[in-house]
Amino acid sequence: MLVVMEAHATREQIAQVCAEITAMGYTPHPMPGPTRTAIGITGNSGPVEQAARLLRLPGVSEVIRVTAPYKLVSREFHEADTVVTVGGVPIGGPGVVVIAGPCTVESREQTFAVAHAVRAAGAAILRGGAYKPRTSPYAFQGLGEAGLRILAEAREATGLPVVTEVMDVETLPLVCEYADMLQIGARNMQNYPLLRAVGRSGRPVLLKRGFAATVKDLLLAAEYLLHEGNSQVVLCERGIRTFDDTLRFTLDLGAVPMIRQLSHLPVIVDPSHASGRWEQVQPMARAAIAAGADGLIVEVHDNPAYAVCDGQQSLVPERFAAMMAQLRRVAEAVERSLVG
Ligand code: PEP
Ligand code: MN
Repeated sequence: MLVVMEAHATREQIAQVCAEITAMGYTPHPMPGPTRTAIGITGNSGPVEQAARLLRLPGVSEVIRVTAPYKLVSREFHEADTVVTVGGVPIGGPGVVVIAGPCTVESREQTFAVAHAVRAAGAAILRGGAYKPRTSPYAFQGLGEAGLRILAEAREATGLPVVTEVMDVETLPLVCEYADMLQIGARNMQNYPLLRAVGRSGRPVLLKRGFAATVKDLLLAAEYLLHEGNSQVVLCERGIRTFDDTLRFTLDLGAVPMIRQLSHLPVIVDPSHASGRWEQVQPMARAAIAAGADGLIVEVHDNPAYAVCDGQQSLVPERFAAMMAQLRRVAEAVERSLVG
């Protein structure tokens, strides 16, 4: 449910409506808008009984039933686009943000080489995994805290904020010491204790779509974060499993305009994991921006043949730079521009 206040409603009237919602046993979420305030109601499992109790209060214009199962992430609840700020970089505004870096932090030298290269080419945020969710327990699992330290040093050296994956509740405080943005990977999209803990951390979050998750599942996972009071959430389409195994996954580009319609949260695309092949990255990156994505997350490696992880889908720095030059023109064609 959503209570829409009249344009001239006073602060006291808004407070009175919130108090009434609380008295009814629900949680009010006042959301000031450019012309009027709306107050979302959560905690109700069905239609709010006695909506008339709210309608009769002074300053109330209308009470609307929100039909979507997700509330706080929905456009119905919050009309204006949410802008998520990561170390000063805005995601979800007029600009398109490119996040780039290695799949995983392998060494100081490798991370610094890639970080400087992607910065020079115009990336706005550095990516890199210190904790890696690997399909096989025998595969490289990440450098852990040593990797986090290297990422923090690379941030110092380049000025780029850092996004890195947090895999579990136990390591969350440690990752928070180093990261500007917390990534929740596809495999953890429905790890509800982790979602709640990351929600409570208040840190900007990059929430990747699970490869067997529907758009609704993704939005409901994001709802956990907002429900804990954290609306600094960026959604990421990174490819889903379909019958076609030609590529690693199937990039669901239709999800981009769909999510923008259903939700106020920014949405970015990961063309690297979606395809698993570096040749696909540039065309899919172009298409993502054309489809309205607020950004991209791209894997870059200075020596992909020797990469510990995901070398096949990693761009060499020169190709990344060439792609960036082209993406600037694609962004312009859809009345946007690259940030940075
Ligand atoms: C990653 O971005 O490093 C990653 C593991 O991606 P995903 O969770 O989308 O597979
Ligand atoms: Mn990877």
